[in-house]
Amino acid sequence: MNKITNHLPTAELQALDAAHHMHPFSCNDEIAKKGARVITRADGVFLTDSDGNEILDAMAGLWCVNIGYGRDELAEAAARQMRELPYYNTFFQTTTAPTIALAQKLAELAPGDLNHVFFGNSGSDANDTNIRLVRTYWAWKGQPERTIIVARKNAYHGSSVGSGSLGGMAYMHDVNSMPIPDIVHIDQPHWWAEGGDSTPEEFGLQTARALEAVIEEHGAERIAAFIGEPIQGAGGVIIPPETYWPEIQRICRKYDILLIADEVICGFGRTGNWFGSQTLGIEPDVMTVAKGLSSGYQPISASIVSDKVAKVMDGSDFFHGYTYSGHPVACAVALENLRILEDENIIDHVRNVAAPAMKAAWESLSDHPIVGDTRIEGLMGSLALTPDKTTRAKFATPEGTVGLICRENSFANNLVMRHVGDRMVISPPLVITPDEIKILITRARKALDDTYAHLK
Ligand code: PLP
Repeated sequence: MNKITNHLPTAELQALDAAHHMHPFSCNDEIAKKGARVITRADGVFLTDSDGNEILDAMAGLWCVNIGYGRDELAEAAARQMRELPYYNTFFQTTTAPTIALAQKLAELAPGDLNHVFFGNSGSDANDTNIRLVRTYWAWKGQPERTIIVARKNAYHGSSVGSGSLGGMAYMHDVNSMPIPDIVHIDQPHWWAEGGDSTPEEFGLQTARALEAVIEEHGAERIAAFIGEPIQGAGGVIIPPETYWPEIQRICRKYDILLIADEVICGFGRTGNWFGSQTLGIEPDVMTVAKGLSSGYQPISASIVSDKVAKVMDGSDFFHGYTYSGHPVACAVALENLRILEDENIIDHVRNVAAPAMKAAWESLSDHPIVGDTRIEGLMGSLALTPDKTTRAKFATPEGTVGLICRENSFANNLVMRHVGDRMVISPPLVITPDEIKILITRARKALDDTYAHLK
């Protein structure tokens, strides 16, 4: 079967899917029992499935379709570039015009002196680049023993061996000899779940100072970098206390440790600024970007590097790169995506229209009997499902049981809302309108009601 199969009946598509397709992050036998939902079309913030249901995608795919679905301009940019030059590589002193233009555009958009761009194809491989990049940087500066990268528990940086090692999701490390050597994980700034009796501000300082404790334990001369998502996304949209990032920044500066901001979700408008680092007041030496860079229309990622780091890296052969680094079609599509974000003032729309409407609507869910901790920054939000919001209690069932029920109820009500354990998360396309936000919240409330009814 090598033709597009949209015309087949849903059951037939599901049977073929179960027979041949191994889904990421899934139990394939479970999917086979229920049948995968087949998405056939999409426009704006809505998906259509093979049964004709119209589903509001409050996850923008996988946190990536920032400009929304169905933008012909991106399809045209891809077709134009494919006709002119479908591929050429950027190894061995060659380059292409869209690659140059995108690198220049990213240097213009990125804050501070982040002026140098190394391209990849996914967030995972960009973070693998970062591991090699920061270790090589220190080696070439004459400090090869600086190899330790400090990351956080429950962080997500990708699922390759390197990026999955940076990530702090223990279940991803089982049976895989991960993490790779010299990755150290410290506690995350997740006050609701782990803050105990401390105030959020105290907890923010305490979790940031865990970085200093690692430095003191190993010696600053062993530490290459700290990596963190400005707001943890896949870990459950964990918005850190205000005290957290300034303290991390202070510690990195004090010990001359490179700071890597993983902007794969937070970048390109998600938090109401071009980058989450601007919203959270972070001044990184390296930034990882992907997802919203092309709004998911093409696979592309980048490590954006400061003048200081590039000065060292530019001096010798960095034996690293991917066949599709700086792919001309992906770059042309990303450029068109950035043009739309700029020309249509989409980030202003997030800041002035969508985020305030979404915040009010999202927080209105806090009156629900099983909802605590409604948190939102820009257009990334989360809520904790809890049997008792006053004590921040957990359900008696294994973590994630109630979240999964709520996710299924959400899907049944034609809303894509994801669960991370017993936390529900959203990250809708940035172009969402106030009317669509109303639909989102009505469906989310119904999913919560159905979940509550199930628990009784
Ligand atoms: N970094 C962060 C913060 C992410 O959220 C993700 C994916 O969700 C990645 C890296 C990995 O990106 P990819 O799935 O494109 O490899």
